[in-house]
This record gives sequence, C-alpha cells and structure tokens, in this order.
Amino acid sequence: MNFQDLRIIVGQIKKNVKCPKCNTRYNDQDIELIGGLGDEQHFFHTTCSKCNSESIVNVSLQMSDNFFIPNELKKLGSAPRMGHISADEVLDMHNFLKNFDGDFNRIFKKTD
Ligand SMILES: [Zn+2]
Repeated sequence: MNFQDLRIIVGQIKKNVKCPKCNTRYNDQDIELIGGLGDEQHFFHTTCSKCNSESIVNVSLQMSDNFFIPNELKKLGSAPRMGHISADEVLDMHNFLKNFDGDFNRIFKKTD
C-alpha cells in the first residue's frame, strides 16, 4: 500500500465509519495505521475525539469484481503453529496498543 492508497482508505474510513459509541465521525488525526497482512488486509486504530472510545478497523481490499468479506482472516505466515487470528487476539492487540507508550527499548530489553 502506497501513500496514495493510504489517503484513499483514510478518506473512506472518515466517510463511512463512525464512533460505535457516540456516532461521531473520525478526523485524520483520529486514525492510525497499525499494520497489514499482505496487500489486502489492513488494520487501523481509531480514537474518537469526542468520547475517547477506541476501535480497530479492518480494511479488506479486493481488486476484482468478485468482492467478498472473508469469514476468517488470512494466516500470518506458513508456519504450522500459526492459526487464524481470532477476535480475541485482535482485542488483545488493541489492549496492548492502548497501554503501549512506544518504548520499544523497554520491550526488547534483555532481562539477564
Ligand atoms: Zn465517540
């Protein structure tokens, strides 16, 4: 996804997605890209400017005419130990990101 794609997607989120709690529309600064799986699945974190409610928005891109919403998300990799991402795991990531202060040094610090 390039910057132009990102701008289009953020524009679509602003146009089509509202805060589930208070129905407020999002602004550019309320929407953050978390990451994606390949070119087709992207996850955004939104924070409502009015009620501070946070949400995860999953954007699924399909370039063909046969548009569909998959019931299960794609696997993160081909390793057999990796299953599909569950709603609980998305919530866990949401909770982690909510409390994460951006200090990667602390996270990856050796504990020996
Ligand atoms: Zn709200």
